[in-house]
Amino acid sequence: MMITKSELYIHIPFCVRKCLYCDFLSFNADEKTKEKYIDALCEELMFIGKERCKTSLSSVFIGGGTPSVLPADQMVRVMDCVKENFTLDHDAEVTMECNPGTVDEEKMKAYFACGINRISFGLQSVHDDELKKLGRIHTYEDFLKSYEAAVKAGFTNINVDLMSDIPGQSVDSWTKTLRTVCELKPSPAHISAYSLIVEEGTPFAEMADEGKLDIPDEDTDREMYHMTSGILSEYGYGRYEISNYAKKGRECRHNLGYWTGVTYYGAGLGAASYYEGCRFTNTSELSVYMDDPIDSFKLDEKLTNADKMSEFMILGLRLTKGVDPAEFKERFCRDLSGVYGREIERFKAEGLLIEENGRIHLTEKGLDLANHVMQAFI
Ligand code: SF4
Repeated sequence: MMITKSELYIHIPFCVRKCLYCDFLSFNADEKTKEKYIDALCEELMFIGKERCKTSLSSVFIGGGTPSVLPADQMVRVMDCVKENFTLDHDAEVTMECNPGTVDEEKMKAYFACGINRISFGLQSVHDDELKKLGRIHTYEDFLKSYEAAVKAGFTNINVDLMSDIPGQSVDSWTKTLRTVCELKPSPAHISAYSLIVEEGTPFAEMADEGKLDIPDEDTDREMYHMTSGILSEYGYGRYEISNYAKKGRECRHNLGYWTGVTYYGAGLGAASYYEGCRFTNTSELSVYMDDPIDSFKLDEKLTNADKMSEFMILGLRLTKGVDPAEFKERFCRDLSGVYGREIERFKAEGLLIEENGRIHLTEKGLDLANHVMQAFI
């Protein structure tokens, strides 16, 4: 299959301070370091745009870290560099992650004017005590101001990230978080609802080891998980991926690209790329990256056909619409039933997979046991 579209991810690793659960590549830095980083990033973007990327971009995602900690003019510089060195589709989705407490109306206007057309807010909870427990820098009031600034600047495509399983969280407080966000005026176009994962090496992992992390028990976790899609559907949000919900037509195109195996280029510290059937990762050493932003990457793996088929299944089954056997045949010149027939039939018999309208997808029960199902396709 000819690949005609690519995506671009840009990593901004800076944050005001580290949240207690965070294991992303992010840290605080002084203004001079940020400026030097943007110089290096622009150099890399120019190289990717001119030498590697041979197609137009259907989406750009500026993530972090907290991209909005940068002064507005630096973000404008990054976007100018993208526009000068890449061809963007006329309707390209250009997302930027923002954290409440790091943006104001001026910044939002500058983002909108330079071509960013989608904002993703990391809110997590509408309860200040829960935000404090997570070590977030902002309050719910800060979020409201940032949200209002985004709307005033002209953004209509806004995502809000929410988190369940926060220490001290109850079913009632999670319900209130979901409903409060759905009732914002105007309501967000997209909601991501993830559960907290206690990652190794974080302060939360240490607290858990010492028995000091009061995360909800498994029954509460399951109750919160099951009620989420019901509440969000009341407000018109359709679930299209395990943890992602959107108003009609507002699914995140960038993430859909990842899940359906499009080519993507990553720029910035630790950014990952996938092109010509290979996966690459940039260095995560800041000084190494800033010294040589073009050559500080390594080849992680060249995917075999078997790897690609496995990915097609694992990523495709994350989507509620599932996978299309005809697409599998077109991509790999093999019948899906011939390669994975045994697994598919077993999960169908167990009520975890179903075939509907020519596609194979997880059932409600299958969504619940998604990891177990995915394992079989590795
Ligand atoms: S804002 Fe996001 S990236 Fe930054 S420390 Fe918190 S969780 Fe990590």
